[in-house]
Amino acid sequence: MSTDVCMYACPDYAPVHVRSALTLAVAPFLPGIRPGMKIAIKTNLVSAMDPDKATTTHPAVLRELCGLLTARGAQVVIGDSPGNLFNLPVLHHAYRVCGLESLVSGSVRLNEDLSITDISFPEAAAAKQFSVTSYLLDADMIINCCKLKTHGMMNMTCAAKNMFGSIPGTMKPEYHFRFPDPDVFSDMIVDLSAYLKPVLCVCDAVTGMEGNGPTQGTPRDIGLIMASASPHKLDLAAAHVLSLDPQSVPTLRAAMRRGLCPERFEELHLEGDGTGTVINGFLHAAGKRDFQFRSSGLSGKLVHTFLRTALQSRPGLSPKDCIGCGKCASICPAKAIVMKNGKPSIDRSKCIHCFCCQEFCPKGAMRVKRTPVTRFLSLFSKKRAHA
Ligand code: SF4
Ligand code: SF4
Repeated sequence: MSTDVCMYACPDYAPVHVRSALTLAVAPFLPGIRPGMKIAIKTNLVSAMDPDKATTTHPAVLRELCGLLTARGAQVVIGDSPGNLFNLPVLHHAYRVCGLESLVSGSVRLNEDLSITDISFPEAAAAKQFSVTSYLLDADMIINCCKLKTHGMMNMTCAAKNMFGSIPGTMKPEYHFRFPDPDVFSDMIVDLSAYLKPVLCVCDAVTGMEGNGPTQGTPRDIGLIMASASPHKLDLAAAHVLSLDPQSVPTLRAAMRRGLCPERFEELHLEGDGTGTVINGFLHAAGKRDFQFRSSGLSGKLVHTFLRTALQSRPGLSPKDCIGCGKCASICPAKAIVMKNGKPSIDRSKCIHCFCCQEFCPKGAMRVKRTPVTRFLSLFSKKRAHA
């Protein structure tokens, strides 16, 4: 019986701990590597932030992964396209702040190729045409090295969502606008892995992020390094660790619909001393549960619209934290935000609930807010739980 996901305990980022857990975790999945083979590591560099903020893949994990690969003769390039302009000043700033510059050696470099390739993928469920950063295509194989965090739109970001960073930075909002429905957007995310075919997925869940993720949440110790050949099976295991209903993660739902992932954690074949890890009280992105009711006909559509309005989480401003920089307004793909008196104002009728404004607000002033109805319902369920 082949292993689906490895989960090994790793208490901190001390090199000896990371090396031990990572070596065990990737062992069943590490592909054959020929000397001179080019391997691209798609890391998570969503924003230029100190590794201690738990926003990006920790350099200690990347260092040990590079060590495993270069010991086999590989030439490694580490890259990502942060949610910003895809140019050298932005990349170099992110590499420096995220602690990646010290990883460079004779066999390891940081990507500086800014070229973009247009892809035609007729077999895709959603993204039949898309554009990706070319350094990934130039490699002989891709390794996805992600971070486990909460996410405003997707509830959780781990392996599948990490591949969205293959889309060049300023094009990302366009994709939100092209695929505003969370299920279709998730199909697009699954398409990216289906096309790019990372041979190995590694998750830095030593310290994850809870709360207002994926950039402004709070670091939370999880103590795991996980690995899998499948981004979706890895995500299913990660959702279990965070006590998340897999059906509440749209990318997991998409993978399940397409037969790429079992529906239950218990169906995975696991290996490692961390397989029993479950984090109690993990703070999710505003307790978000995205809305999934579907029905045909006029009455079904009316019910859908009503329930969506009543139940779907939305971006909301914390005025005291807002510095009026206007980044949310400039990044909003639906042009739903205008600055009024130095503060953002959201036109709810235009909002497509992509949470780009929340993800890229530098001060964490834009939050995922539940509606009054869902707040009331969660109060009710808490009372029931304590009854
Ligand atoms: S990005 Fe954040 S801080 Fe800047 S205007 Fe928008 S809410 Fe305020
Ligand atoms: S207001 Fe925020 S969540 Fe709504 S469309 Fe704009 S960026 Fe997306």
